[in-house]
Amino acid sequence: MMFTCQNCGIDAPTQQVSLNQNIGLVVFRLSESTEGQLCRRCISHTFQRYTLVNLTLGWWGILSFFLTPIFLFSNFVQYRAARRLPEVPSDASRPRLTDELREKLGAFKEEIAACLNNGDSPEVVAIALAELAKVTPAQALLFIKFEIDG
Ligand SMILES: [Zn+2]
Repeated sequence: MMFTCQNCGIDAPTQQVSLNQNIGLVVFRLSESTEGQLCRRCISHTFQRYTLVNLTLGWWGILSFFLTPIFLFSNFVQYRAARRLPEVPSDASRPRLTDELREKLGAFKEEIAACLNNGDSPEVVAIALAELAKVTPAQALLFIKFEIDG
């Protein structure tokens, strides 16, 4: 479970994607793919870049001719699904453990420790903690890893 984008690292909702790009070179082909939990912004950028390349350079070759429409379609379906993710806020950044955050989450230290001792995974505890303390799951996980579990 990831709470940050695997591409840019920011603290934002993510979605699992597997986007593909193909360049047909008649006999050979060059392919590139992007896989992982990505934020809406990274999915959108990657989709646009891959679509442009697929549409212009994707077709040139027998295998490429059949592969490229599959990539175009599959990328588009994933891009459409990613539109359901909330917009990445313009001030979004990598999660940081600030003093304010330490203070806010410090109030839950005993509960967190009890859950972890109970065998709950840090990720599951982070989701509950985020809800309780009104922070993001990525911030909650950071706190758990560095202040309690680490
Ligand atoms: Zn991203």
